[in-house]
Amino acid sequence: MPGIALLQWYGQNARPLPWRKDGDPYRVWVSEVMLQQTRVEAVLPRYEAFLRALPSVEALAEAPEETLNKLWEGLGYYSRAANLQRAARQIVELGRFPDTVEGLRRLRGFGPYTAGAVASIAFQRRAAAVDGNVLRIHARMRLDDSPLPSPLAAKAAEAWVLRTMPASCKPGDFNQALMDLGALVCTPLSPRCSRCPWTPWCLAFEQALQDAYPKRLPKPIRQEESFPVFLLFQAGRVLVRKRPPSGMLAGLWEFPHHVDLQAAGDPLCAHRHVFTHRVWNMQLVLALPPREPLEGVFVDAEGLRALPMASAFAPFRERALHLMKES
Ligand code: SF4
Repeated sequence: MPGIALLQWYGQNARPLPWRKDGDPYRVWVSEVMLQQTRVEAVLPRYEAFLRALPSVEALAEAPEETLNKLWEGLGYYSRAANLQRAARQIVELGRFPDTVEGLRRLRGFGPYTAGAVASIAFQRRAAAVDGNVLRIHARMRLDDSPLPSPLAAKAAEAWVLRTMPASCKPGDFNQALMDLGALVCTPLSPRCSRCPWTPWCLAFEQALQDAYPKRLPKPIRQEESFPVFLLFQAGRVLVRKRPPSGMLAGLWEFPHHVDLQAAGDPLCAHRHVFTHRVWNMQLVLALPPREPLEGVFVDAEGLRALPMASAFAPFRERALHLMKES
């Protein structure tokens, strides 16, 4: 049976990830949110630091915005951090961590995947946790033609997971086994079918169609923008400003751009930052002193390191720190 074969494979191949140690709902939840759109290797160091600073739901609920954003720095998609805190406040108000999919879905930021993952891993509820890995495996196993991402494909994958999950197993183990199969074996490119416990049941393997699945919707065209980003120094400090409290990169810090400043020379370096729907092509330039005072604050090197800065500007921060050290 495929479910048993997968669990046996998981018994020998499970990744030793820190959030798997005790199934604590808070730890599982934080890890699942961090792992959305972010690679495990990038999450690991930040996960440990996050839990050291905010070891409980209560600590997360009370954390100042700057602390939270600093802890989230480099993970991107900062709305996840804001939603994490909103949900923590809901849990504190409730007085307990909801332990069902339905209860979890009422919390801010808990979509079907996060609710299924937390309910199954932390509370052993029989629930599916359908992420990109599971969608891909399902499409190959069943030769499902629904293009990804789509609600239809997610529904079909969810029903398939619940059919395949053995009645007697720990649902959390089964879901984590699927996650590991997708990460280690049934990878997006060149799946390692020779190491897969599911070759006897996989239609893509049987028909040598692994590379043809999953089907995908055409990628949206990203809007490209090019602009200079300014380093304006004053008495060994550099000008930074805080982004508005809502919208893209809300509440994070950045170097000024789209402002009335003149470049003092050629660009120092360039950085291309790719977001989901847009691309920023930025050139870093030193700025001449402005005619009018600009919005923002001048910070020294220590202050610059301490501020939660949008990842788009992180390479420029390194350059600014280097220049401040030299001067
Ligand atoms: S046999 Fe190959 S394509 Fe099928 S699930 Fe396993 S790794 Fe994926």
